[in-house]
Amino acid sequence: MTEALSEILDIVKRRNPGEGEFLQAAEEVLASLDPLIAKQPELLQQRLVERLVEPERQLIFRVPWTDDAGNVHVNRGFRIEFNSALGPYKGGLRFHPSVNLGVMKFLAFEQLFKNALTGLPIGGGKGGSDFDPKGRSDAEVMRFCQSFMTELYRHLGEYTDVPAGDIGVGGREIGYLFGQYKRITNRYESGVLTGKGLAIGGALVRTEATGYGCVYFVEQMLAARGDALAGKTCVVSGAGNVAIYTIQKLQQLGAKVVACSDSNGVVYDQDGIKLDTVKRLKEVQRRRIAEYVELHPKAEYRGGGNIWDIPCDLAFPSATQNELNGRDAQRLVANGVVAVGEGANMPCTPTAAETFIEAGVAFGPGKAANAGGVATSALEMQQNASRDAWTFAYTDERLSEIMRDIHTLCYETAAEFGVPGNYVVGANIAGFRKVAVAMRTLGVI
Ligand code: NDP
Repeated sequence: MTEALSEILDIVKRRNPGEGEFLQAAEEVLASLDPLIAKQPELLQQRLVERLVEPERQLIFRVPWTDDAGNVHVNRGFRIEFNSALGPYKGGLRFHPSVNLGVMKFLAFEQLFKNALTGLPIGGGKGGSDFDPKGRSDAEVMRFCQSFMTELYRHLGEYTDVPAGDIGVGGREIGYLFGQYKRITNRYESGVLTGKGLAIGGALVRTEATGYGCVYFVEQMLAARGDALAGKTCVVSGAGNVAIYTIQKLQQLGAKVVACSDSNGVVYDQDGIKLDTVKRLKEVQRRRIAEYVELHPKAEYRGGGNIWDIPCDLAFPSATQNELNGRDAQRLVANGVVAVGEGANMPCTPTAAETFIEAGVAFGPGKAANAGGVATSALEMQQNASRDAWTFAYTDERLSEIMRDIHTLCYETAAEFGVPGNYVVGANIAGFRKVAVAMRTLGVI
């Protein structure tokens, strides 16, 4: 990294102590910018890099709520409004006990570049809470969501900040959040939240979009090498929204998925994962993936197992950040992996990402590969604004086009800056350039 960029990174480290995930994400982006700064040194003079690593606004608030037994709980809520140069802040809400300021900031920072890559008019934000919805009744989740929105609503708006789902926040939570927003503001402002159910202005394909989009991206990376998805053996970590629809699309396109997981363990099914079972267990019954083997005794459950030990051609880390480390990457490479698509945000550690790139594996970083979710959220905003509803086939075609365009942009940018095939550098430079141009146009604000 050039001296100027490393000085900026030092400032970021000093200003954000203890925020490990944010510093990791910032370092990855800054480390990619050398060739761009060499071509356009004016970006430094205008302090665009420093301005871009500093969030526009960081909100932290108390979320008190009452459980079914009448006990009062207090959680912490966050919304990081990172950058609105390209449009209203846009990014999901995460409810998980691991949520803290550093996690929120890393997600918002990643989101900013991801949203820029989609080419759609959306800025970057992220939010959530350290609330754990696991084991909570519907009524408890509803009371939590209502309390959360009672503070957050004043910062939102279809032209201001538009949240969506993420880990622990799906259609149920978005419905409760929208209900409370509507009640407080007395406005049926559909465009204030995306990922809504179809009954309340949601869009077809939003549920499937991140997983489908990730598969479309990997399909493009393979096509660029004269290869294809059909017949490939795949491993997909997680069993949530992203994992489920990654598996579905892979199966539709003729690949075979042999393993998925949750935070307790791994299911290995040599004959191919039965998606109906995973969907019923996780989406309907909210159960553990361990129960899969009760219905499919030929499959194997590995409690506490490491999914990356399972040989595959394609790997889709789709659970959470830093879930795949350098050792896992070496194992996957030794087992012959040819492509990796990050369905989750930053699931590969920096060492893992380097290992893949050095080994010549096609590596699709999350900010490009999982951008299909937010892109389809932006399509939901378009439908809400025009009071229109598009068909599944039409929306899916738009998603597929957007993923093709993101792939082309990353691929061509990597080649332009002398690192052909390096999608990390391609995505970081292309995303940064779009945001920087918009910021420069807006003046020093
Ligand atoms: P879900 O809550 O639907 O599913 C998350 C899955 O990951 C669950 O199977 C969960 O298991 C597992 N998981 C969560 N935390 C951990 C952990 N600390 N260790 C191991 N496993 C864990 O979330 P999503 O599928 O929506 O999100 C998954 C990833 O994709 C996240 O990184 C998210 O930021 C990213 N993403 C999501 C988008 C979306 O549209 N939903 C868009 C772009 C990115 P368990 O049930 O046991 O906790």
